[in-house]
Amino acid sequence: MTVLLAIQHVTYAYPAVKTPNAALRDVSLQIQEGEYVVVLGHNGSGKSTLARLCNALLLPDEGNVLIGGMDTHDVAKRRSIRDMVGIIFQNPDNQIIATLVEDDIAWSLAIQGFAPELIAERVEDALIAVGIAALRQLPPHKLSGGQRQRVAIAGILALRPRCIIADEATSMLDPLARQEITGLLHHLNKEQGLTILQVTHLLEEAALADRVVVMEQGQIVVDEPPAKFFANVRRLHSLRLALPEPIEFAERLRNLGYSIAENALTIEAIVQELY
Ligand code: ADP
Ligand code: MG
Repeated sequence: MTVLLAIQHVTYAYPAVKTPNAALRDVSLQIQEGEYVVVLGHNGSGKSTLARLCNALLLPDEGNVLIGGMDTHDVAKRRSIRDMVGIIFQNPDNQIIATLVEDDIAWSLAIQGFAPELIAERVEDALIAVGIAALRQLPPHKLSGGQRQRVAIAGILALRPRCIIADEATSMLDPLARQEITGLLHHLNKEQGLTILQVTHLLEEAALADRVVVMEQGQIVVDEPPAKFFANVRRLHSLRLALPEPIEFAERLRNLGYSIAENALTIEAIVQELY
């Protein structure tokens, strides 16, 4: 396996607040190519800071961030790093620039001066990959929140990245759109082998990940597979993250004497266990 993202003993404090309470303190994390990692944590725990360090929007005060072996401190590598790791944010409206969906997706390629034929081909592929080919000629403001997040994802895909970081990208969406975007990220992970880092405060989004990372006060306090993570119900309570319904349900069944496997994280899996 290849390491795609290597965060090595990183400490970071925002310039205005160079206090003992840095946003990140001595954080280390390695992510392999093709992994789907969910990053959980309360507001202010350092999730977005971590995300921004991964595509050189921020640079570590101490330690190093290596993306595909390239150090984010290396100015000459910054363009390649940003093409390799794309971030989508909470509010799709802050990421949309052009007045037509297809122009918006083409934007980053156009400003990098790619040939029109190559841009057209990449935009086509990206539109299809996120399922909005039919909306290409519409102005983005006519689209739903979920569709606008798809435009943002397509804009990143057009750059042919190896990793997408979704920083609370579903938190402004309704539950259905939220599931669709999470589903799309999983699809891109499975079908295109894209590495995904999904930052969320919603515990249920962690169930299908390969790995769950939990941040607290600028540090990583948990890093393990979801089955192990959700099995430790006492710690889940102490982390004060709201439990997803299926996990709560399985726990109640266990308390009633049913034996439910620890890796049964969805209602369907729990029903199977009961049979
Ligand atoms: P999260 O994404 O988990 O909510 P952040 O990474 O945004 O956490 O924030 C980590 C810490 O850094 C918090 O204490 C927050 O107040 C602080 N912080 C975040 N962004 C800025 C900023 N632009 N300027 C100053 N402090 C910031
Ligand atoms: Mg955040």
